[in-house]
Amino acid sequence: MITYTSTRGRAPELSFGDVLLTGLAPDGGLYVPTNWPDKTAADPSLPYAEFAAQVMWPFVEGAIDSDTFGEICVDAYGTFVADDVIPVTTLADDIELVELFHGPTLAFKDVAMQLLGRLFDYELGQRGTRVTIVGATSGDTGSAAIEAFRDRDNVDIVILHPHERTSEVQRRQMTTVDAANVYNVAVEGTFDDCQDVVKAMFADAAFRDRVGLAAVNSINWARVMAQVVYYHWAAAKSSDRPVSVTVPTGNFGNVFAGRVAKRMGAPIGEFVVASNRNAILTQFFQTGSMTIGDVEPSLSPSMDIQVSSNLERLLFEILGNDGAAVAELMSTFRTDQHVSLPNELIPRMQEGWLGEMVTDPETIEVTKAVFEESGMVLDPHTAVGVAAARRRPDTMQRMVMATAHPAKFPDAVEQATGLRPPLPPHLDNLYERDEHYTVLPNDLATIQEFVEESTQP
Ligand SMILES: *Cc1c(COP(=O)(O)O)cnc(C)c1O
Repeated sequence: MITYTSTRGRAPELSFGDVLLTGLAPDGGLYVPTNWPDKTAADPSLPYAEFAAQVMWPFVEGAIDSDTFGEICVDAYGTFVADDVIPVTTLADDIELVELFHGPTLAFKDVAMQLLGRLFDYELGQRGTRVTIVGATSGDTGSAAIEAFRDRDNVDIVILHPHERTSEVQRRQMTTVDAANVYNVAVEGTFDDCQDVVKAMFADAAFRDRVGLAAVNSINWARVMAQVVYYHWAAAKSSDRPVSVTVPTGNFGNVFAGRVAKRMGAPIGEFVVASNRNAILTQFFQTGSMTIGDVEPSLSPSMDIQVSSNLERLLFEILGNDGAAVAELMSTFRTDQHVSLPNELIPRMQEGWLGEMVTDPETIEVTKAVFEESGMVLDPHTAVGVAAARRRPDTMQRMVMATAHPAKFPDAVEQATGLRPPLPPHLDNLYERDEHYTVLPNDLATIQEFVEESTQP
């Protein structure tokens, strides 16, 4: 049975069920497996949901019985509209696209969230408790979480978004969900204000206990685990050439899942970490140093991030599983806004990793080129990935994780191709549906009161 340990080495080891519900470790670290499963024996000729249950089984064994886990996977991936859940298509220049965006909210976050919602409900049911999930969103995460947790028996979910500062598609994907356990709050402030309110709620121990606060942000181990599956899936279906996987990256959760798949034997030669102008990770993989700058808006907003929280899991590995060394490095990074890896570790860190930065004009250019060559419409995040992958030699099988459906970012797509991509059929009346949300001032006490009153059992 796999147990989980904190990257900062000062928290107790936990079972899968505890890690699922805990998220961040009490010492500020992230949970990682203490021992790694053997090479996966999962059969890629099976339907995706069954393949997924096989790949993830070693991580959950002991916390759930295998029949129930299999049913949860079938149910979670039954919400995807593509028959094979995650299709792999090929562009004219032989780059393979792993299409992760056929879930309910059109971004790859559904792959993990659909599973997480069901696992939470199961685990809470076993324990006979309820939680209130609270989160802040600037877009994709909030809608994926709401779709995953709507109508669950043991969970209420409250999502804060900045009032009049998200795109209309993104807002409507959250506010048109009509479920008794879903609460949308439009905060009169910025995304950072929303995040500060959420942090303050978690820091208020009495409030946290009264409402049973829980989080489902990208550091949750179970989200990484669910994403490991499609790396095995795509690599198993690929050619015999060495595989170069490019991942459009923000918080480093998606690409770290690829790293886990590689440790479990997925035939992947290298990872290309693709960033927009917020290129702190490009700097890291090219030089071994990171300096925090201001977040700059780009055409790929879900990657407008300076501090990639999941990078800590890779740092733990690079630093030889030394939790104290990770804690020291992270604390230096916080205080100095800058950190460098020890020189002798840099070559080891760079083995199998590349960092590439792609500007907004290049994003538009590649979207246009791919549309003309292949007739394929890319969303701006995927376009960042394709632009980076094109810089790699075609002696490798180049593969790009396609993280969003183009209809989710219609303005950038129209700018590049002249066409406004239509929403897929399951969302085509999104603009006619009724919206449900409450506008509140950027004030902690008011928002806490709202959460407490709304979620009374
Ligand atoms: C969240 C997101 C990303 C970044 O993923 P990470 O796991 O944070 O690196 C990339 N593209 C889209 C469309 C996203 O929603």
